[in-house]
Amino acid sequence: MENLISANRELWFDWKWQLMNSLKRIEDIVDYFPFLKEDLENLKWVTKKYRFSVTPYYLSLAENDPDDPILKQIIPDVLEIARRGDPDPYREDEHSPVPHLVHRYSDRVVLLVTNICPVYCRHCMRKRWWRRKGYVLRGPLLEEALNYIRAHEEVKDVLLSGGEPLLLKDEELDYILSKLREIKHLKVLRIGSRVPVTLPMRLTESLGRVFEKYAPIYINTHFNHPRELSDFTIERMKNFTRYGVIWGNQTVLLKGVNDSVEILKELFYNLLSAGVRPYYLFQCDPVEGVEHFRVPLSRAIEIYRQLMNFSGMALPKFALDLPEGGGKVIISSPCEVRKMENGYLVRSNDRGEVFYPDPPFK
Ligand SMILES: *Cc1c(COP(=O)(O)O)cnc(C)c1O
Ligand code: SF4
Repeated sequence: MENLISANRELWFDWKWQLMNSLKRIEDIVDYFPFLKEDLENLKWVTKKYRFSVTPYYLSLAENDPDDPILKQIIPDVLEIARRGDPDPYREDEHSPVPHLVHRYSDRVVLLVTNICPVYCRHCMRKRWWRRKGYVLRGPLLEEALNYIRAHEEVKDVLLSGGEPLLLKDEELDYILSKLREIKHLKVLRIGSRVPVTLPMRLTESLGRVFEKYAPIYINTHFNHPRELSDFTIERMKNFTRYGVIWGNQTVLLKGVNDSVEILKELFYNLLSAGVRPYYLFQCDPVEGVEHFRVPLSRAIEIYRQLMNFSGMALPKFALDLPEGGGKVIISSPCEVRKMENGYLVRSNDRGEVFYPDPPFK
């Protein structure tokens, strides 16, 4: 790893260099992680179905250990293709009134502006899109999506997602954000982006100047492990708040990566200290190709229950998406309440049942 960085010190912080020098074949990283040699043929076979790509930057965060939490998110696993499943349990494709737009909940829509990513995360919920030809939403299809939003006054909140929305050019993002800002009934412009994790060099000053014009821009990023918070990305994210970017984070609970109270606690506190508010902790749902990352729900709830003992600022909402288009469900504190005469008995976290009186004035 040291060689990879030192040989490229000058261009390392150029995001276009990082993209052009992304490692796109599993063979390309075997020299850095020799333990992969044994299984190389199998891994290549998996990448025929689910592609592989990693930026030199993200690779440089990894350690030479089969259980490394960074490697687990980028190295293919034969279990990805071991079992058939549902590629789209959220039924996004059925809730798509115009191409590349998902309208599942009345007040908000998702705009899928590209299907390209700098790093292909093994646990991605939209893996079904990886096999389609790479695209960026522009031209008539973009206008059709914008017209849909203009015509639907109930939509208050637009989420640019993908793929990686921040792979679009500054001008393309500027165009989309300007058109969205013109729509009076839209109150919230947000972006789901993993570049702070996989390609923080993309957070350039010129991109900041674009966001500044349309601020506030809510960006929800996707950190899963404290090791992903490098000093470099922390500095860039802190810097971006000056352009009116408000950071949130969505973590996916992943077996073998972050399914531990200690790791999540450290992650959430470190995010907060970098100016990023934990927003969601997502259960890894039954999506074809990612099921080997799933943690049983009972264990997930137990982990979350323990996280509830820590600072409320550091506690994201815990959510899962029900299969067959059942929708997002928030799992909150399993609070026990018993009705009594003149009040309730409520179970306290640490003091057993405590009486809570009814209001005295009717
Ligand atoms: C999760 C999701 C959203 C955003 O929901 P929030 O709970 O407001 O973050 C919007 N549309 C779809 C289809 C979603 O799955
Ligand atoms: S960055 Fe997001 S969309 Fe892209 S592969 Fe990772 S999880 Fe999927």
